Amino acid sequence: MGSIDDLPPLRDVISRHGLRPKKSLGQNFLHDLNLTARIARAAEPLEATTVVEVGPGPGGLTRALLSLGARRVVAIERDERAIAALEEIAAYYPGRLDIVAGDALEADYDALLGPERAAIVANLPYNVGTALLIQWLTAEPWPPFYDQMVLMFQREVAERIVARVGDKAYGRLAVLAGWRTEAKILFDVSPSAFVPPPSVTSSVVRLVPIERPIPCDSETLQRVTEAAFGQRRKMLRQSLKSLGVDTAALLANANIEPTARAEEIDVAGFVALAQEYVKLKLA
Ligand code: SAM
Repeated sequence: MGSIDDLPPLRDVISRHGLRPKKSLGQNFLHDLNLTARIARAAEPLEATTVVEVGPGPGGLTRALLSLGARRVVAIERDERAIAALEEIAAYYPGRLDIVAGDALEADYDALLGPERAAIVANLPYNVGTALLIQWLTAEPWPPFYDQMVLMFQREVAERIVARVGDKAYGRLAVLAGWRTEAKILFDVSPSAFVPPPSVTSSVVRLVPIERPIPCDSETLQRVTEAAFGQRRKMLRQSLKSLGVDTAALLANANIEPTARAEEIDVAGFVALAQEYVKLKLA
């Protein structure tokens, strides 16, 4: 595929708008429109979908999403230098690209989106990628404002998202993602695909919300996993002491052996711990 649209090559867009990549904004740009199309296709069907794209930068992925038929793209970009480049794409696809200049961590997604089906698709800035994911995983009400997320992370982070109990990468992020979503690594992207190349391989992950996860308060779940994995080699009867409740009662009520370690407890076990913790706190 030579080109997906009649817009100028990304290299030209980047030089014309002076988009010298900034490390502070986690800027590693994809120049290959075949690759951006592959990421966009992972989020199909796009036709009836409003896509939220965080960090469009010069717009490689944005162009792929629009050329593959996304009904509307809401692109949230913090770098003001990129806005003029994105406006050229908006003019090429009239009425289909809304550019939001600002910080995605502060965005009000309900206000940006209508009632239509939404998906989040992004090559995330590495410095805020995990914080954004946690925000989206803890969205209320649930099911959330999106039907799926197709996100690029560093491979190591992707492994922490999809890990199952017993895996080396299993920890807080896997529990949160596993509680509310089905998460899967779709494919890897080599450092050479980016300008500048990062030091590590990246992976594209798809997360699909589970309609009815086991009821649980997300903040409590995070608190419990933080305590448990903060001292992952210790037995839970020790590591959970920082929660400030009767640890023996907490573990007994959740049906978990006091000698178990965090890495042996599956998602349902952590949800049970969070539920029992709330009851003990209220007692
Ligand atoms: N989507 C482009 C691509 O694939 O080539 C750029 C991806 S680059 C890894 C991350 C982008 O996120 C940059 O354009 C950066 O300016 C933007 N960004 C960084 N922090 C952000 C934030 N808090 N909110 C919105 N965008 C942000």
